[in-house]
Amino acid sequence: MVEGSGGTTQEGTLLEEAGLTLRKEDRSQIISPEERQDLENRLQILLARIPPEKDSPLESLPRKAFEYAMQAHSGQWRVSGEPYITHPLTVAEIVTDLVPDRETLAACLLHDVLEDTSVNADMLRTEFGEEVAFLVEGVTNVSRIRFGMPHEKQVENLRRLLVATAKDLRVILIKLCDRLHNMRTLEALPTIKQRRIAQSTLDIFAPLAHRLGLERIKNELEDLCLYYLHPSIYRDIKHKVDERLAARLDYGRKVQNIVADVLATNGIDAEVEWRVKHFYSIFSKMQRDNKDFSEIYDLTGIRILVGTVEQCYASLGMLHGVWPPVEGRFKDYISKPKPNDYRSLHTTVLGPEGRLLEVQIRTHQMHRVCEEGVAAHWRYKERGRSSRKLGDDAVWLSQMSGLLQETRDQDEWSYSIKTDLFTDEAYCYSPKGDIIRLPAGSCPIDFAYHIHTELGDRCQGARVNGRYVPLSYQLKTGDVVEIETSKSAHPSPDWLGLVKSSRARHKIRNYLIEANREQLIEQGRLMLGRELHRLGVNPPTFFSSDACMEIMESLEIQHLDDLFALIGFGRIATKQVVMRIMKSRAREKKVEKRPIGETLKATDIDDMLYRLARCCQPVPGESIVGLVTRGRGISIHREDCTNIIKFQGDRARLIPIRWEENGQAGSQVEITVHANDRQQLLADITSVISSHAVDIRGSNTVSTDDSKAILTFTILIRDIKQLRRLATSLMDIRGVTNVSQKRGSRTIRLT
Ligand code: MN
Repeated sequence: MVEGSGGTTQEGTLLEEAGLTLRKEDRSQIISPEERQDLENRLQILLARIPPEKDSPLESLPRKAFEYAMQAHSGQWRVSGEPYITHPLTVAEIVTDLVPDRETLAACLLHDVLEDTSVNADMLRTEFGEEVAFLVEGVTNVSRIRFGMPHEKQVENLRRLLVATAKDLRVILIKLCDRLHNMRTLEALPTIKQRRIAQSTLDIFAPLAHRLGLERIKNELEDLCLYYLHPSIYRDIKHKVDERLAARLDYGRKVQNIVADVLATNGIDAEVEWRVKHFYSIFSKMQRDNKDFSEIYDLTGIRILVGTVEQCYASLGMLHGVWPPVEGRFKDYISKPKPNDYRSLHTTVLGPEGRLLEVQIRTHQMHRVCEEGVAAHWRYKERGRSSRKLGDDAVWLSQMSGLLQETRDQDEWSYSIKTDLFTDEAYCYSPKGDIIRLPAGSCPIDFAYHIHTELGDRCQGARVNGRYVPLSYQLKTGDVVEIETSKSAHPSPDWLGLVKSSRARHKIRNYLIEANREQLIEQGRLMLGRELHRLGVNPPTFFSSDACMEIMESLEIQHLDDLFALIGFGRIATKQVVMRIMKSRAREKKVEKRPIGETLKATDIDDMLYRLARCCQPVPGESIVGLVTRGRGISIHREDCTNIIKFQGDRARLIPIRWEENGQAGSQVEITVHANDRQQLLADITSVISSHAVDIRGSNTVSTDDSKAILTFTILIRDIKQLRRLATSLMDIRGVTNVSQKRGSRTIRLT
């Protein structure tokens, strides 16, 4: 088979995926009746998977898209010899598994028509409406991004660029599935192109799939990359895996049966799956941990799927009853989900035949999110609604962008998501192909300063995408920017009105101040002098005073001349200086006042100013008192806390505080249950906790040698009364000997 002409494609672009698998010259070939029937059958299956809609005939939109794409791609063939339409059809099949909806399906079928045929976006808009045209255009824009062989430092920018260009998450889904099918059929391309495409898949698309939680797609992409990038390692791993398959299956079945039995006897309806590591994860573990194949591969894993969170924790307890857990291997991603919303309990136990067994426990819902990530959310979101506007997806995408941020330390991650992360940026290219990230609305001057100060200072004009543009031109994502310089050019004050980046603004100011320094100093000295006179302050005395030094320090200025120059330039207003003088005068005269005797609600005080004391960890409902600390706001203690007693009567330090009534925010506490170990103990305890409508945020179980169990739960309680009631009920459970609460270093009995 011949390579495609690839006339419109560039080296190193994504288009080569489509372009090179395309062969246009042989127009005599037509699709055979058998091929047509096969395509028709596949389309029928797809259409049956889409929920029917009342207002329009079930088939119309995707069917029409299919016929349209058939027509547009007629005479085009993949290098494999198949009609080109088989590619968009397969992409549609993969995407429909994740997002079964009419518009998305239509967009999948049409995703390559803008790139490879004479169809344009307006034609799509007329034929298929705004949403489908928007998606197809999005996929096409994303496909135009130049990936090539990125430098390491460009990889993250590229991922962000991809997301920024996509606007609607379905665009990324379609693009990922497009890449997946192209990876599956990469065999037909020459080796060098296979390697390039595989490398960018590994750098950009597999991590993107991972961060969107699309684990199945990620795993398949990675295995395909391994196959093309390290063929001999791939063959080696595959060979060893095949060799041991039979023995592993036997062992797996044995473990599966034991676990299923134990859970069933305890009334938990569970699905127990045998987990198979994909080749790439074996490979990367071998590399990372410098381990032998057998050390990694022989570590076997099962997955337990249950109905509820309570059952997750209960199953964990039962499992630990059958096989001893390995110290330090328990991870609770249910109470603390990973950034991509992965939730599961992980543990490692010493299984049959003394072999280590990795176990994941999660609910079916969590599992769906693990496998399908954002797509699962998307579907969930859809269920309750009849129609969806495109705007909603923008909000959703910006929420997702939080997930896309690199997070190395899972614990550091928080839900505070920067919503303007991608939407407020423009990604442009230098002529060399480097990606420059700028604030939205930036102009060529911003671009120039981003590259180099000298380039900015000498910037005279710019060409964008080969065309001359004014310096006021607003750069857009994807623009290729060339800066024209001249020896005589220099920054002008107007530039400050054009630039958007703080870097450019800062550099221009510096230039302007330096260039006119003498004049600005004189001007600033006069301006400030006038204001000081108005205040009744003698300027020379003030300029040599400590007060003046303090003010300069607070403005991060070292020399008096710099202060004058900045005032002369207008960067610092004389009013700013005068305000500071007046404030420091007021401070000297100020008598300290503090509201004493009035009762504050705990929630009245700004979050920043108070914290619950660690020594006694007060719980809503208990009598509390606020201690004024130096520089750290107010710390709230129990009234009987030993650390408070020495301040008794010190009205300057102690503030009466009470809890806000019906405050809805609960308090997180850690309780410890001591018990004589027995079967079903954990299940009984968790069911009592949930019967009190108390949320379990985390748990840990330790079994001692003398068959005692110590169970720790992190729970969310409303107030001390609820906690006491819960403790009383827990004591009623057979085998429980003690219930206590940990507060800092102390343990308090609750019963
Ligand atoms: Mn494609």
